[in-house]
Amino acid sequence: MSGPILTSLLERKMEYGPLMGAKNQTGTSHWRLGRDQQNIAWLLLDRQDAKVNSLSEAALQELAEILSHLEADLPAGLVLRSAKASGFCVGADIEEFRGLTEKAQVRERLEQAHATANRLADLNCPTIAVIHGSCLGGGLELALCCDYRLALPDAKLGLPEILLGLHPGLGGTARLTHLIDPLEAMTLMLTGKTLDARRAKKAGLIDAVIEERHLLRAIAAALAGKIKQQEYGLKERLLATTPARHLEARQMRSKTAEKIRLEHYPAPEALINLWEEYGGETEEMRQQEIKSFADLLVGETAQNLVRVFFLRENLKQATKSKAEKIGQVHVIGAGAMGGDIAGWCAMQGLRVSLYDPQGAALAKTVRKTADLCEKKHFSAAKTRAVLDRLIPDTSNQGVQCADLVIEAVPEKIELKQRIYREIEPLLKPDAILATNTSSIPLQELASALDQPSRFVGLHFFNPVAKMQLVEVVEHQGIETKVLQRARTFVGQINRLPVSVSSAPGFLVNRALMPYLLEAILLLDEAVPAASIDQLAEQFGMPMGPVELAEQVGLDICLDVAEMLRKRLDQPGPEVPGWFREKISKGELGRKTGQGFYRWKEGKPQKEGVEEAPDEALTDRLLLPLVNTC
Ligand code: NAD
Repeated sequence: MSGPILTSLLERKMEYGPLMGAKNQTGTSHWRLGRDQQNIAWLLLDRQDAKVNSLSEAALQELAEILSHLEADLPAGLVLRSAKASGFCVGADIEEFRGLTEKAQVRERLEQAHATANRLADLNCPTIAVIHGSCLGGGLELALCCDYRLALPDAKLGLPEILLGLHPGLGGTARLTHLIDPLEAMTLMLTGKTLDARRAKKAGLIDAVIEERHLLRAIAAALAGKIKQQEYGLKERLLATTPARHLEARQMRSKTAEKIRLEHYPAPEALINLWEEYGGETEEMRQQEIKSFADLLVGETAQNLVRVFFLRENLKQATKSKAEKIGQVHVIGAGAMGGDIAGWCAMQGLRVSLYDPQGAALAKTVRKTADLCEKKHFSAAKTRAVLDRLIPDTSNQGVQCADLVIEAVPEKIELKQRIYREIEPLLKPDAILATNTSSIPLQELASALDQPSRFVGLHFFNPVAKMQLVEVVEHQGIETKVLQRARTFVGQINRLPVSVSSAPGFLVNRALMPYLLEAILLLDEAVPAASIDQLAEQFGMPMGPVELAEQVGLDICLDVAEMLRKRLDQPGPEVPGWFREKISKGELGRKTGQGFYRWKEGKPQKEGVEEAPDEALTDRLLLPLVNTC
């Protein structure tokens, strides 16, 4: 066994049966096979030249060869696990999904892959998947071919294909809906959510959660048939009938339609159809899954989402540097942004102190963070740990021990500069000072500092817990090391850094504002707000421009629009006077309950204005955004 694999196994102190020191018996590049003295075969997935396992076509072809070997000389049992410390398998190799246009070719490849998976499922000896870390997509589908699934406590299981505009394609739709409660299986596939080991056990997706040190005993118990498996219940039997599935499918469709537009996103409907029509019969469902998957994969939506996947991967690359990680964060200003930034950092495992002269703002942040933990289904212990890491600071003491100080006070240059002057002498020698400013040029802010090289923009978006991008803003005097460390920090808190210069509006506001302004001009021409939003949603936006502006706050939009008008060589259209009046009356959108919409329980009330929009307006609305980009 090669050096790095051995190291990764030992790091986790993983059980690997007879494989250490033994020669790989198959000559394959992505798998290692060995047998122990009880004639149990141990098969390790170990994708060549990769830190994580993904399932490539080559790996599946090798698996077919290995299965021939096992079929010819049947072991007493087969243990399938990963040799990577990082996890079991993250799913199909998405690189191989790129640029596919030929349905027939996709189907042919899928048929081969299915044949291999079926052979694993049909192997005439007990098969046991041992799962740690990520076990996603095709990785989970392989595990579903085994008779038993034993998971270590850190396992995370899921079928996230829907996020790429697909559904499972290696027999998973049929295997999962026949293994666990079909409705739970469909929810898992329709949302793409992952389950931790405890919840996966509860759902019946795995048979036992075990510690590594008990693994050999658990394997022996499974081989002896002593591990209790989930039984097929009454609900499952009922849903094996077509009329019951019709009924459930109708509900799934209406729930899905509340969240997405089917014309832009066909995968959920395809998955529901597949289950509704063929859910009673495993083999037929697997066959139909191939056709449906091939149709989706060559389609525009999946190909675009695959492209987006790689764009995200590029952004993630920027977080991977040798820069020193941030251990402690201090946030100044516990308002809409600062409070959320501090809470989010604590949820991502960092120690954070948070200063605000208003004690109530600090208390609100703690409450909001606890609520968010609950929403995200954190256990009580995990929530407690988050709140322990989030330290309300009434005297700004935290500045002195932080590796990163993030300033998020109101958008006033004098205030920000005054704070910098006060805190700069207190900062640790290598600490970074960041601002969350949306509009003030960084060089102007930096002029208040003795050491501008440590200063960077970290522009978060609202709401922080939902918006994945963070603009990392450069300026002339910044040190490269600081920039790299800032990007690494963004990765540490599970966000994506976009590197931008300190140009007006940076990237996102610069691109978005001409589109929002066009919406205001349409309102000025008496086009109803709901019609404008409908137009944008029909085009494929997740929400229309009026609703978006009201989510952000009409006052904040006006500030950004005015800033851009002042700072751009070719300023856009002027905001109409009545829009300013609306703002001075306090009609700011969601936060005041009234804007162009009335807001109730966080939702705009759109009923009553259902005039069909003039589709010729779509170009008018969208082209300013395209042109700016
Ligand atoms: P906010 O008004 O909600 O909060 C500002 C907080 O700063 C308040 O809690 C206030 O008590 C506190 N504060 C005032 N003076 C202070 C001082 N001397 N020391 C410490 N705290 C002080 O403002 P916000 O919307 O959170 O905006 C903060 C920054 O984030 C601004 O620069 C803004 O441009 C930027 N931003 C805002 C948004 C947004 O959607 N709100 C989005 C991105 C960036």
